[in-house]
Amino acid sequence: MTELIKAHLDHKRVWRDFDYCYPVISRRSHGVSLGVNLNPDKVCNFDCVYCEVDRLSPPKRKDLDLDQLDRELGVLLDLTASGGIYDVPPFDSARPEHRRLNDIAFSGDGEPTTVREFPEAVARVARLKAHRGLDQVKLVLITDSSRLQAPEVVKGLDTLMANQGEIWAKLDAGTEAYYREICRSKVPFERILDNLLATARRWPTVIQTLFLEWKGQGPDDAELEAYCQRLERLQREGGQLQAVQLYTVARPTPEPEARPLRRPDMDAIAAHLRSRIPCLPLEVYYGPEEWA
Ligand code: SF4
Repeated sequence: MTELIKAHLDHKRVWRDFDYCYPVISRRSHGVSLGVNLNPDKVCNFDCVYCEVDRLSPPKRKDLDLDQLDRELGVLLDLTASGGIYDVPPFDSARPEHRRLNDIAFSGDGEPTTVREFPEAVARVARLKAHRGLDQVKLVLITDSSRLQAPEVVKGLDTLMANQGEIWAKLDAGTEAYYREICRSKVPFERILDNLLATARRWPTVIQTLFLEWKGQGPDDAELEAYCQRLERLQREGGQLQAVQLYTVARPTPEPEARPLRRPDMDAIAAHLRSRIPCLPLEVYYGPEEWA
């Protein structure tokens, strides 16, 4: 295992004694991503079978202190700007070309858009970024797509997209039944699709899809066909799909029956997607066997 790969694998959402902000080396961006965890309480309105969040142990804290979040992010921005972060494991093993700050991502132990303070948090992070002149650094929202049309969320998205924003929105299924099986959410699948369409009509949207082996099986042909039809419909009805990011399980999860798809299976799904929707950029991220 190379040192760089070790750095990729060391994807823990913790930094020293911080409660909200953490740095990672991101496979997607080939650089450093600063995570902003608005859900230290681990609250999510999904219960994905592949979720890595350990919800059996109690959260370190349940509240969101935006002043502390500001301070933590400020420290990490300074540390990346000075290069001091690359003296600290695992960042000391990053290749020289990956020693750059790519983005600040709202991600973490739950769904960021469930937080009442979401628009204020986005505004504060955008201000911190602007004050440092970091116009090349993206602001990313990683979301399960369940609340994209809530007025306060749209307000936060307006700010995000005015500050080099990107929306990475989850769509893990083509059918209601598979969505219920994998995402185990009470949010109706139709609402997810409706939210995606409304959002993608307004802003370019990246679709994030995780396919996996669940109870010994990957998604079958009918599921993949239904999934392709969802993407086609989003485009046909005016949604701007920037790209699809196709993932599988990357790290151990609390559910032993949630396993990564192997590379040939991921390649077959990617080939199917490319043949069905050739105009849609596709990024494929393989599972841990690729790092062995
Ligand atoms: S949406 Fe994300 S945080 Fe929520 S259960 Fe699914 S993987 Fe976990």
